[in-house]
Amino acid sequence: MQHFASDNYAGICPEAMEAFVSANAAHAPAYGDDEWTRRVSERLRDLFETDCDVYFVFNGTAANSLALAALCQSYHSVICHELAHVATDECGGPEFFSNGSKLLTAPGAGGKLTPDAVREVIARRSDIHYPKPRVVTLTQATEVGTVYRPDEIAAIAALAHASDLRVHMDGARFANAVASLGVSPADVTWRAGVDVLCFGGTKMGLPMGEAVVFFDRRLSEDFAWRCKQAGQLASKMRFLAAPWLGILEDDVWLKHARHANAMAQRLAAGLAAIPGAGLLFAVEANGVFVHLPARVLDGLRARGLRFYTFIGAGGARFMCGWDTQVESVDALLENIRALMAEA
Ligand SMILES: *Cc1c(COP(=O)(O)O)cnc(C)c1O
Repeated sequence: MQHFASDNYAGICPEAMEAFVSANAAHAPAYGDDEWTRRVSERLRDLFETDCDVYFVFNGTAANSLALAALCQSYHSVICHELAHVATDECGGPEFFSNGSKLLTAPGAGGKLTPDAVREVIARRSDIHYPKPRVVTLTQATEVGTVYRPDEIAAIAALAHASDLRVHMDGARFANAVASLGVSPADVTWRAGVDVLCFGGTKMGLPMGEAVVFFDRRLSEDFAWRCKQAGQLASKMRFLAAPWLGILEDDVWLKHARHANAMAQRLAAGLAAIPGAGLLFAVEANGVFVHLPARVLDGLRARGLRFYTFIGAGGARFMCGWDTQVESVDALLENIRALMAEA
């Protein structure tokens, strides 16, 4: 049975698996001094059309925490949306690795920060008793399945840079956002003012691993040491890197992301036709948030389906992945229809 709890329930996509296995053929230098790591870094520079600095870590919490720590002193603060993964789902990792940089949360419709919300936090205090804002972090796609347009990012980044803040992007679902927007990766990152991107690999079909991409290379100074100290320097780095080759080839990553997004659209369309099933957010990436009666949620669980209800603003979250099958979406809809019809 396919579940909708998270896109990380899916396995490894065949293209990534093939590249992973091919990296296993012979001995290779350790700690990133290998041909695969070099090639993927080059491919990412091609993809982003700029001379960025690339690092590979095991997971998204480390990517975000270490990237934010690289942008902050301990007395600085990070402005994020109140639903941001960095604030709600990283167990204090950003604060820990930055030695105490405080996260300042702001509200915003659809899981998105706005220039006004960011301006309010920046202007809140400027005295010496308050942690000085130094970073704005945006999640793309957001925690509630919406997407920032390039102009929305640019407006926030312009404001941030004018106030001497850096811009970080949590791109755990960057692929889904790019596929949804139909823009170039450069247009939603550095061209819009993003300084550092955590490019998620795990949820788009890699076995594990995220790339930390510094568009402003001055910000990556000593980042390799930071990764090593945090236990995030893979000695067999080639196995973190190689799977990226499989999915960066021929835009496989976008093909998978488009599929996941399309499955979310199919699910949303089906739900919209069920009276009493209210969609909570615009479906712009691969996640669908819906309000369903508690007995329906219980019924779905009793039928063995796994999904989360603790993320975002309540409701059930159904995530689609690279491997989500049409039949699984239709079966989920059928289960919901049947449970809703029970008196
Ligand atoms: C999944 C996710 C991450 C990374 O989580 P890990 O479990 O640490 O890999 C980061 N940000 C967002 C928005 C996520 O959904």
